[in-house]
Amino acid sequence: MNILLWRYFAFFTVILIAVVSLVCYGVLSNAYSAQAKNHITSIGNNLTAFVDGKVNMPEQDVIRIMNGYAISEGIEAFLVSFDGEAYIATAETPSDWESVVGDMCSRVNGWTDKRAVIYHDGNMLNYASCVVFNRQQYYLFVRYPLSIIVSSVRSMQIYIIVIAAVAIVISFVISYLLAQRISRPIKNMSGTAARMAEGDYSVKFASAEYQEIAQLSDTLNYAKDEMKKSEEFQKELLANVSHDLRTPLTMIKAYASMIEEISGNDPVKRSQHLKVIIDEADRLTGLVNDILNASKVSAGLSELNKKVFNLTEFTYSIMNKFDYLQQTADYKFYVDIDADMYTLADEEKIGQVIYNLISNAVNYTGDDKSVYVSLKYVPEENRIRFAVRDTGKGISEEERSHIWDRYYRSKDTHNRPVKGTGLGLNIVKIILQAHSFDFGVRSEEGKGSIFYVDFPEVSSRPDEV
Ligand code: ADP
Repeated sequence: MNILLWRYFAFFTVILIAVVSLVCYGVLSNAYSAQAKNHITSIGNNLTAFVDGKVNMPEQDVIRIMNGYAISEGIEAFLVSFDGEAYIATAETPSDWESVVGDMCSRVNGWTDKRAVIYHDGNMLNYASCVVFNRQQYYLFVRYPLSIIVSSVRSMQIYIIVIAAVAIVISFVISYLLAQRISRPIKNMSGTAARMAEGDYSVKFASAEYQEIAQLSDTLNYAKDEMKKSEEFQKELLANVSHDLRTPLTMIKAYASMIEEISGNDPVKRSQHLKVIIDEADRLTGLVNDILNASKVSAGLSELNKKVFNLTEFTYSIMNKFDYLQQTADYKFYVDIDADMYTLADEEKIGQVIYNLISNAVNYTGDDKSVYVSLKYVPEENRIRFAVRDTGKGISEEERSHIWDRYYRSKDTHNRPVKGTGLGLNIVKIILQAHSFDFGVRSEEGKGSIFYVDFPEVSSRPDEV
């Protein structure tokens, strides 16, 4: 990545510098030649104005002014008679004078059109015009050697090339440093991730000055914490589950031995002992079912089998499962349920939600063994609120954010009578989130908790759908 970044940066800067240099190079040559043209035009026009139309002007005046320009501006000026003779000249006539004059005559467009012309000829920039001096017609000819411009343009261009080369070298170095700076935190992260993959969760992904990389490191730190938590939870679950499995198994074995050795022939004692065995076997079944359900729910939530059903009757049917507690364990259920309310949901999965919530209330309610179940229509919001309240210890605010996590079990309430895996509320959460139903808990420590779920009310009956 480092090399790749470096290559990109370097390529980009080289292109940039090359483009800028080329533009400067071109602009410079054009600017110089435009400036030379203006220069020679203004000298030529001044001389033309000075000479043209003058009568009785001493030649000396013309020679003086032409020489003045020749010295100060580096030009050559000639007043040429029509037969090609240089009448006044500031320099030696060049060796190819005839062809130079011939070229000039052909360019000056007839005597009547007194416009001056400017043109290149080899290394010279030329200005030519026609003038009448002391009643004689002449060509006025100003020449400017381009070599002066060319050499100054060359030296400027050499400067540009040198500057561009230095800039390219500097840009290579800067690109390298920059690429290093960007890729270093990513390299560090991948090292940290490799250590984490080997199971070392004590690692910390270092933050970086770039926002995106800092975000990535935050996310990785979060993922690491979650993985760590999940591993701890799983270890804890294994410990809990093996404890919970071992206890009923020990009881079953102990009571079976008792039947074999002591109570086999005593029908009353034998049936008491058999009941314990059956209860413990039931407890085991419940435990195993919970674990199986949790994985089934997480795996099979992609397909919700939604249909309209009578939530009122359905709630009653689930509550019936807890009837034996009223008869055998003195539990009291207080029910406030509106008649015939319908909703649209996956009936089987909602059954599990209601069952888990009521069974938690049963498990965690106070000594009065009271559980309050309500199902009420809320007309303003067109929904049905299911709520189950207990009178237990309640749930502290800190704990409330964890109870929905997989395998979370409060240390306080983990005592033997509550067979739990920490999966019940996680199953509830997964199912309700898949339905996009609102749900939650309100709790006051020492007074109890209320778990609630809001179902959408559907007025049409199943046969009308
Ligand atoms: P568990 O199998 O332990 O009941 P849950 O996922 O159903 O697992 O609940 C997770 C934890 O939330 C429980 O261990 C308990 O501490 C707490 N909890 C759940 N329901 C109640 C409740 N009605 N009152 C007090 N605490 C509760």
